[in-house]
Amino acid sequence: MTRPAVTTAAPALDASFLDALRAAVGAAHVSIDDEQRRQYGMDALKKGRPADVVVHPGSPEEVSAVLAACSAHRVPVVPRGGGTGYTGGAVPTAGGVVLALDRLDRILEIDELNLLAVVECHVITGDLQRAVEAVGLFYPPDPASLATSTIGGNVAECAGGPRAFKYGVTKRYILGLEAVLASGEIIHTGGKSVKNVVGYDLTQLLTGSEGTLAVITKVIVRLIPLPPTQVTLRASFVDIGAAVAAVTNLIRARVIPSALELIDADSLEAVARQLETRALAPPGTGAILLLEVDGLEQAAREEARRVDQSCREAGATEVLVAHDQATRDELWRVRRALSTSLKVLAPLKINHDVVVPRGRVPELFALIARIRRDYRLLIPCFGHVGDGNIHVNMLLDPADEDMIARSHAAEQVLFEGVVALEGSISGEHGIGFSKLPFLHLELTPIEIDLLRRIKAAFDPLNILNPGKVFPPQTDGGAP
Ligand SMILES: Cc1cc2nc3c(=O)[nH]c(=O)nc-3n(C[C@H](O)[C@H](O)[C@H](O)COP(=O)(O)OP(=O)(O)OC[C@H]3O[C@@H](n4cnc5c(N)ncnc54)[C@H](O)[C@@H]3O)c2cc1C
Repeated sequence: MTRPAVTTAAPALDASFLDALRAAVGAAHVSIDDEQRRQYGMDALKKGRPADVVVHPGSPEEVSAVLAACSAHRVPVVPRGGGTGYTGGAVPTAGGVVLALDRLDRILEIDELNLLAVVECHVITGDLQRAVEAVGLFYPPDPASLATSTIGGNVAECAGGPRAFKYGVTKRYILGLEAVLASGEIIHTGGKSVKNVVGYDLTQLLTGSEGTLAVITKVIVRLIPLPPTQVTLRASFVDIGAAVAAVTNLIRARVIPSALELIDADSLEAVARQLETRALAPPGTGAILLLEVDGLEQAAREEARRVDQSCREAGATEVLVAHDQATRDELWRVRRALSTSLKVLAPLKINHDVVVPRGRVPELFALIARIRRDYRLLIPCFGHVGDGNIHVNMLLDPADEDMIARSHAAEQVLFEGVVALEGSISGEHGIGFSKLPFLHLELTPIEIDLLRRIKAAFDPLNILNPGKVFPPQTDGGAP
C-alpha cells in the first residue's frame, strides 16, 4: 500500500514573500527560527516535517492578508490550533506557512439571553466551558484534550468526547462562523439566530473540513443551561462482554447517561502505572464503564439508581458512586490521562477512532480480538462506547519492522471491518494525512470527486492545507 510522502526538505522561501508576510502581521510575528519551525511541524500524531515559516496573525484582517500573500505566491498554508490532532492535520506536508492562530484567543461575548457565546478561534475549549459555567450555562462538547485544544480546532475536526452520547458532537453547538477563504476574502456563515435556512449550510460544511476549505477565525457557539446535578459512577466488570451488555441494559432501560466511557484491562494497567495508583478497580477487572448522569437533582439521582441496577444486572463486580466533586474529578482525571498513559506500555501508539452503530459494538470487539490474535499485537481499547466510537490503540516498537508491517496489515483489516459493520474509519479525529490510504474504503469515487469539486470551489489554487483529506496531486494544481 502506498503511504502519503512526508518530505523533510525545506523549499526556499522567496524574500519578497517573507516581506509580504512581515507587512501583513508585523516582523515580530513571523518566525523562521528553527525551534519554532520544528515545534509547529508536529502534532499529536508525532509525524511531520518542520514548517518553513510560522506566522502568528493577530486579527481576521491579518489572517486575510497572510492568505492573500500565500495565494499570490502560491505557497501552501496550514492553519493550526492547539496541535492536539491525531491525524497530522495541522502539520505541513508540502512546505510553506504554518498559520499559528494563538493570538486569536479572546472570548468576545457570552450572551445569556440568547444562549450563545462569540469566541475567537484559539480560545481553549476548557476555558470556554469554565467561563460559561460561571454564569450557569453549558458548552457540552468535551474532547479529552480540552485543556489544550482550541474551539477553532474542535470545529475544524468536529470534535466529540464523552458527553456526545447525550449531547452530540461539536457540530450541534455551532451557530455561525467567521472564516477567511484562501483568496483572503472574509465570509460569515450562519449567525446568532437558532434557525437559518438561507442557501446551503456553509457552517456545517466548514465544520469538520480539517482546515482545507477556509481558516475559521470566529465561532458563535450555542449554549444550554448547565444541569445543576451530576452523578459519576464507575462500574467494574470481569470482561468487555459484560461491560457492553450493561450498555445494552441501559439503553433498554431508556437511560441516556451524559457520559458513557469504556476502558479495557490493558488501558487500565497503563493508566494505573502512569498515575502510580492501583486503586482503579477491584482485582480481576477486565473492563470498566465510567458513567455520568446529569439533570435536576431528583432526576439525576433516579437515573444513577437505574444505571447502578443495569450494571449490576449485567454482572458488575463493583459500582462506585461519586457524589462529591473530588471523587468525580479523580475519575475523570483517570479517563483524561488514558490516551497519553499508553506510552508506558510501548514507545509508539497508532490511535484509531473507529465507530460503528451502537448495536454492533460487540461485533467490533470480536473483530479487534481477532486482529490481536492474527497479527500478534497489543491493542488496548477505550472510548465512547455509548456512541459506538472506540479508540483502538495499536502499540508498537518503531524498531521492530516486522511488527510495523503487521500493524499496517491490521489497520487495513480493522478499517475494512468497521465499514462492513456499517461504521466509519473515523468518528472524531478526521483523515488528515495519516488516514488518506483508507479513504476509498468508505467513500466511492463519485463521492470523493464531489468532495474534490467542493474543495476546488473554495480553494482553486489548492494552497489551503494541501495533502490532507485528499491524496496530494502530483501536478501541484487544483485539488
Ligand atoms: C490526549 C488527547 C485526547 C484527545 N481526545 C479527543 C476526544 O475525546 N475527542 C476528539 O474529538 N478528539 C480528541 N483528540 C484529538 C484532538 O484534540 C481534536 O481533534 C481537536 O479538535 C484538535 O484541536 P486543536 O486545536 O488541537 O487543533 P489542531 O490539532 O491544531 O488542528 C486540527 C485540524 O484543524 C485545523 N484547524 C485548526 N484550527 C483551525 C482554524 N481556526 N481554522 C481552520 N482549520 C483549523 C488544522 O489545520 C488541522 O487540520 C484528542 C487528542 C489528544 C492529544
